[in-house]
Amino acid sequence: MSMLKDLFIGLSQNQFLNSAAKKYGLKLGAQSVVAGTNIEETIRSIKELNAHGISCTVDNLGEFVYKKEEATEAKEQILEVIEAIHKNQADAHISLKPTQLGLDIDYNFCLENLTEIVDRASKYDMFINIDMEDYSHLQPSFDILDELSKKYDNVGTVIQAYFYRAEEDIQKYKNYRLRIVKGAYKEPEEYAYQDKKDIDTNFIKLIEWHLLNGKFTSIATHDHRIINHVKDFVKANNIPNDKFEFQMLYGFRKDMQLQLAKEGYNFCTYVPFGKDWYGYFMRRLAERPQNLNLVAKQVFTKKTNTMIGLAAGAFLLGRVSKKK
Ligand SMILES: Cc1cc2nc3c(=O)[nH]c(=O)nc-3n(C[C@H](O)[C@H](O)[C@H](O)COP(=O)(O)OP(=O)(O)OC[C@H]3O[C@@H](n4cnc5c(N)ncnc54)[C@H](O)[C@@H]3O)c2cc1C
Repeated sequence: MSMLKDLFIGLSQNQFLNSAAKKYGLKLGAQSVVAGTNIEETIRSIKELNAHGISCTVDNLGEFVYKKEEATEAKEQILEVIEAIHKNQADAHISLKPTQLGLDIDYNFCLENLTEIVDRASKYDMFINIDMEDYSHLQPSFDILDELSKKYDNVGTVIQAYFYRAEEDIQKYKNYRLRIVKGAYKEPEEYAYQDKKDIDTNFIKLIEWHLLNGKFTSIATHDHRIINHVKDFVKANNIPNDKFEFQMLYGFRKDMQLQLAKEGYNFCTYVPFGKDWYGYFMRRLAERPQNLNLVAKQVFTKKTNTMIGLAAGAFLLGRVSKKK
């Protein structure tokens, strides 16, 4: 299982395959977990979820941004999404990644891009979530949040339970709307718990702490055991429904998403869209290789897919990055 995880994390970091994938539409089953390649398709998907009482957080997919023009393009796209959400009166807000907006190019340039986005969203009373990436981007992302918070209150972030420092961070940011997750990247023992049990224990501890002491909690997981635990915990502690929501990724556990919304819980689906779907999709395969079923379905119901050949070829040729 760990070998497969490493394989997909490696594939997610492969820039050659990433560029190749951009030229194709959604392939390999990615269309089941990516809402669309453009804004129109994405608004349609959001409206469908809204009709079931589900709100959305929209992520304009983007990887390997090392040029200012690319980051500016990503910013323009996100501004367009904000306008489209507002115009279509969709129940949705934005999730974004600082690296897509230039964090690896220049901190101040990235901060300027985020400021423009948060400022535009604030006019529509729309929330912006700063997604958290790997450890090397953690502190600069919190620094950006601190800067933005001096002027805006429509911004929050993510706490990753696998980090030892997560407890300290959640206490510092208790007055923020926070999404709490287990953590998606491969991090070294120096900074992060490695054992699933330790991560789950910390995850529950952080969720309970923020539910009791924090502003608003987004519990982002597909893990039914955690969800059931939270349901019991909020009931036992009289925590009202408007203090928290459950979140899951688009296309995952759809029946459970609908069921939770039907039960009266606030539910928010993370809706990724865009041409740059490849890295996101590979990370989802890394988390849960059973998602390969999605791929298999595509392969056996459609013609053999070029991307599968490319992916396998690159792996066999040892082109896969071994960074993490
Ligand atoms: C909305 C959202 C936003 C996120 N944002 C970030 C972020 O900003 N930064 C970050 O690092 N990570 C983020 N993540 C990813 C997160 O950190 C985890 O990597 C990811 O959610 C996998 O962990 P899990 O809690 O869902 O359950 P896992 O630990 O993957 O699974 C636990 C158990 O749940 C069940 N299960 C899980 N998935 C399924 C499924 N599809 N079908 C059936 N059973 C299933 C299985 O029994 C499994 O053993 C986000 C996740 C979500 C849902």
